[in-house]
Parts: sequence; structure tokens; C-alpha cells
Amino acid sequence: MPDVQPIGIDLGTTCSAVAYIDEHGKTAMVRNAEGEVLTPSVVLFDEEEIIVGREAKKAAGVEVGKVAECAKRDMGRESYAKLINGKEMPPEVIQAYILKKLMLETEAALGTQVKAVITVPAFFDEVRRKATTDAGEMAGLEVLDIVNEPTAAALAFGEAAGYLEDDGTPREMMRVLVYDLGGGTFDVTLLELRPGDVRTLATDGDTHLGGRDWDQQLADHAADAFAAQYGSDPREDPGSLVRLMRAVEEAKHTLSIRNRTKIHVEHAGQALDLSLTREEFYDITAHLLERTAYTAGEVLRVAGKTWQDVSKVLLVGGSTRMPMVPEMLEKLTGIEPDSSIYPDEAVARGAAVFARYVMDQGAGDKQPSFTVVDVNSHSLGILGIDQETKRKENVIIIARNTPLPARAARNFVTKTDNQKSIVVQVLEGESTAPEHCSVIGKAVLRNLPPGLKQGWPIRVTYQYGTNGRLSVRAVVPGTEREIVMELEREQGLSSDRLKQWKQTLTAEVGRKRSASTIPAEQQSVMTPTQRKAPPAAQRVAKAAKTPTATPAAAAASPIAAQRAAPQATTTAPQATTTAPQATTTAPQATTTAPQAATVMQPAATEVVSSPASSETVLRPKNKKGLKVWYYLAGYIISATVGLSIGYVLMCMINPEADFLNIWVPGVEAPSEEE
Ligand code: AMP
Repeated sequence: MPDVQPIGIDLGTTCSAVAYIDEHGKTAMVRNAEGEVLTPSVVLFDEEEIIVGREAKKAAGVEVGKVAECAKRDMGRESYAKLINGKEMPPEVIQAYILKKLMLETEAALGTQVKAVITVPAFFDEVRRKATTDAGEMAGLEVLDIVNEPTAAALAFGEAAGYLEDDGTPREMMRVLVYDLGGGTFDVTLLELRPGDVRTLATDGDTHLGGRDWDQQLADHAADAFAAQYGSDPREDPGSLVRLMRAVEEAKHTLSIRNRTKIHVEHAGQALDLSLTREEFYDITAHLLERTAYTAGEVLRVAGKTWQDVSKVLLVGGSTRMPMVPEMLEKLTGIEPDSSIYPDEAVARGAAVFARYVMDQGAGDKQPSFTVVDVNSHSLGILGIDQETKRKENVIIIARNTPLPARAARNFVTKTDNQKSIVVQVLEGESTAPEHCSVIGKAVLRNLPPGLKQGWPIRVTYQYGTNGRLSVRAVVPGTEREIVMELEREQGLSSDRLKQWKQTLTAEVGRKRSASTIPAEQQSVMTPTQRKAPPAAQRVAKAAKTPTATPAAAAASPIAAQRAAPQATTTAPQATTTAPQATTTAPQATTTAPQAATVMQPAATEVVSSPASSETVLRPKNKKGLKVWYYLAGYIISATVGLSIGYVLMCMINPEADFLNIWVPGVEAPSEEE
């Protein structure tokens, strides 16, 4: 094993997985401390400890309000959708706790330090990508790069199904549709693989569509039936609701392999066993499946392709195990979806391939065998004012599905005579109405030369890198002025809060090695040969292909070095009808002040391993010491009060026993004359 091992992390909405490159150059899955490949992306914030994974998931039904699930859905938002222990928590912090467990247990399992590539849905915007990198940083993990999940999936399938040459080059031109339906997100991407080139043609998705929505439909169906029978609704009680959600998810899984199942609903001392067929399940959820088909059709349309142009369909994400998914895709494309690799593992494996590649590039020992070109999943625009209507509008500068890196420029004009400054407000979204877009940042160009006439041209250029980073440049023609502006982030954690959280999570540096005292037998890794075949009925039976690609490092494609070099340059047509907003005010600070309402204080955490459960838990460091002092103080106070009461009672019964000569109620004090 090398000193530092490149790994791929699929940081999933419901489950996460880690892969690495084994000594034969093939991808292999890492098992967590519980001996499992998939770690539920669930965090339990108990009073005394923070638990990640299976045990946290188990606690969800019992410890309501302490368990954070599906934080990925909230990435990019200020705070997680639910209050945890009554407090707000940023979603990237929840992700950081998950990454920390994965990192510690992978390092323990492999016996080396790790550097990671983390995957994100292709449609994740700039803010969510940055939040993902921040989560890695808070966890103390070195993040080599962020890669799109469909790109990673294509690499993994390439390795497993042998459509990459030994050096990683695709053998032939192939158009691959990656359909990724996970627990909470859906995305679909069309990639074109050619010798020397892996290119994303178009991508689209939905951050709020996934297996959970199928569960929700079933839960509503079962709860309605329960309410009809008993007159009370299990959705109204948090505990009953969590148990109902577990029951319907189990039923959904059963329906992937059987035609009929029962959903057990319990609430307010009553129970119902509701029977459900696969056909009924299809009917209840047909509209969700149609939504995914519509999005896939849109991706093909945008790429200028048809269903018949697709040469391979790859299924990724746990929810593609529902037979309705491959059935629908087979009907549309006429080809049987590829199932040569576990959908749960594909993304992590591809990310490991990519991580190895990035590290090789960094070491300078390998030439890239081919390049990867991704696209911009959301349009990037600028807030402008239409000169005729005087309405604010989103003027798109880099359109969605533009190959990256991309550069585009548009001309604007000043709004007033002698304008002092302009604000470039960067919008992300497809609508021309700014209120339907998200503001991802702001840059202010101040100190414009004096005496500029109204309508003076300003040329604004956006440069969007493969890493999802945007730089904004504004030029005032005729004044030899060119200003590159720092984008002020409107969303995400401020650097102060980031540091604070990082301290909280990494206060245990130095104890890290001993932290994951995972039992030796659990410190295992799983190679492809150890994998069991998926249950025949669970997926369309298919002969597993032996991976023919050579060392996955070679299979590794893409490419930090090449990605960094601008390839595609898009110059948008110049538009002069829109004027940027004028401003004379100083830029406002947009970062959020550090909040005191964090769940744990910095430098008060340590990582310990609970031998009984082999769970890695994070435990407040000083709490035990504090408790001892509380106990001692309580003991002294109650002893003093007890003794005093006893003494007073004794004196009341026998005043002569008052050897301390104090005043006791009901007993006359001796007079001074006496
Ligand atoms: P992922 O986010 O890719 O880990 O996918 C998790 C989702 O896949 C959850 O909604 C699971 O309920 C769902 N899932 C996992 N296995 C199955 C199965 N056998 N049948 C149906 N859905 C499944």
C-alpha cells in the first residue's frame, strides 16, 4: 500500500460508500467498522456523543429530533431542514461528520492515510459543490477533487464491463445514458465515450426526487388506509411516522423481488397489516417514474439525440433496483440496461479511479490517456435592467450544458451619467425573472473613471472552471481599465464558521490514529471477486462481465491537469440592451456571523471508539469532568442542609443540647441580664 491512498467517496443522500484501488490496480470497496460497504448517511446527535451510520439510523424512530438524515438534499442552504436538539445546524457540518467516520475507518482499514475524490450530482451548482468541499475540509479530509456522479459511474462501468482499453482509453464511440435514482436525488446524463475523450453531452436532474418520494407515496397510502379504519392518523405522531416510513421502505424493497407484500402500521395502540401488490405500487408511484422519463427525454433533446442514439444505459443509485426503472428504460431505448456492477458501488468505484488518476497527475508520472469534459449544469447569468422596460432581468452569460471550462462575455452599459460603480450580481437559473433564480454571488466594480456618460459600455466576462469555480472580470473599454473581481459568496458558511466547525471536528488531531480502534476482523476491504451476485429476481439476470481493463489507474481518465487548461471557449453574442444595476454604495458583507448555537463548542470534542458496538463516536471532552464537580457540589449542599435541619430539630426537642448556642425557632434566647 502506498503511504497515501487515493480513495473515492460516494457521499450519498441515504447511504455513502468508499472505494480504493487494490494492489492489482482494480477498484475495491472498503468496509466500515460495522463490516458493511454502505454506511447510512445518518447522524445521531446524542447529549454525550455523536454517532454516524447504522446505529444512528436505528435511533431515528426513537430519538426524534436528534437524528439528521438526507442532509445532502439541503446542501447549499443556510441550515439543515430540521432543528437538531432544538438548534440550527448547517447541512455541510452533518456531511462532515459522515465524511469523518468514513475517513477514519478507511484509514484504519487500509492502514494508510487517504486523499479523496468526493462525488456530487451533475446538477449540483457552484454553492453545493463548495459546500461539499467545505464538508471534507471540516472533517480534516484532503479533497483531491469533486467529480460528477455520472462521470464516475461511466468510469466504473468502463472498468467493470471492459469498454476501456488497458490504458483507460475508450475502445469505441459509445453514447451512454447514466440514469441515477438514489434515495433523495435524481439525475440523468448523456455521455459520449470516444477514444481519448469522455464527454458529457447534457445533464439534468432533480435535487428533490428519489426513493424517499416513493416511500412517501406508500406512507400516505398506508396512513390513509389506517385513518379510514381507525380514525386516527399515524402521520400526526412523530414516532409512529418514523416507524411507518421504515415499514414502507421495507415493503418497497420486498416489492423489488416479490409481487406482493404487507405494510405493518402501528399507531395509538392499534395496528393494521395492509397488503400491497407490485402493480398497486406501480400505480401509486407512476407519476414519479414519469417525471424521471420526462427529464431523461429532455436531456436527449438538449443534446440533439433520440432514444435510438443511446448505446448503453447505466443504472446507478439504490432506487434503480425497483424493477419499474429498468423496465421503463428498456421500453424507451430498446436496450437492456447494464447491470454489470452494483448500482450502490458504481459511483464510489469510479471516484476511486478518478482519485488515482488525479494523484498520478500530481506526481507527474503518467500522461492522461484521455480527457473528460463536463458541462455546466445551470445557466449563469447577471442581474441587469432592461433599457426599454426598466425591468430587472436575468441575462444569461454561460448557458446550461456548455462544455467546461467555459468563458463568455457580454456588453452592458452604464445607467446614469458619471456612474461611480456597478454591481455584478451573479445569478444561477434558467428563468429570465431574477426572483426565480438564485443569487450565488456579488462583485462590485468601484471607482469608475469620472465623467463617464450614461450608456458607457462595460464588458463583463465570466470564466467558469471545471472545478465549478467562477471568476468575473469587467472591462471599461477606452479607459484601459480591467478589473478582475472576487466573487462575494451569498450562500454557504463564512470562513470563520468553517474554521470554527473544523476545530470542533478535528480537535482530536493526534488522537486520530487511536480513534478508530476497529476490531481487526472488521478492518477488511472487499474486492470485486468477493461480491455476491445480486439476487437473480432483484435485477434482470445478466452474465457478469469480467473486468478487462487494466490497472484502474490507467483506466482513470480524467484529468485535473487537462481540466485546468481552458479548452472550450464560448463567447456569447454581445448584447447592449441591458444595463447592469448602478450603485454608489459600498459592498455589504455577505458572510454570516459565526453562530453561537452550534451543537458543540470548538476544541471540546474527541473521537473515541465504543468497543461494544465498534461505532466511532464523537464525545464532548470536558463533560465528564464537569459532571463530577456538579455531583460534589450537590452532595456538599445536601449534606449541609440535612445536618442543619437535624441540629435544629435536636435543639427544639432538647434546648440544652444547643452547644453551638445559636437561635432556634421556638426556643427563647437567653436574656442578657441573666
Ligand atoms: P442511494 O441514495 O443510491 O444509496 O439509494 C438509496 C435508495 O435506494 C433508498 O431510497 C432505498 O430505499 C432504495 N433502495 C435500495 N435498495 C432497494 C431495493 N432493493 N428496492 C427498491 N429500492 C431500494
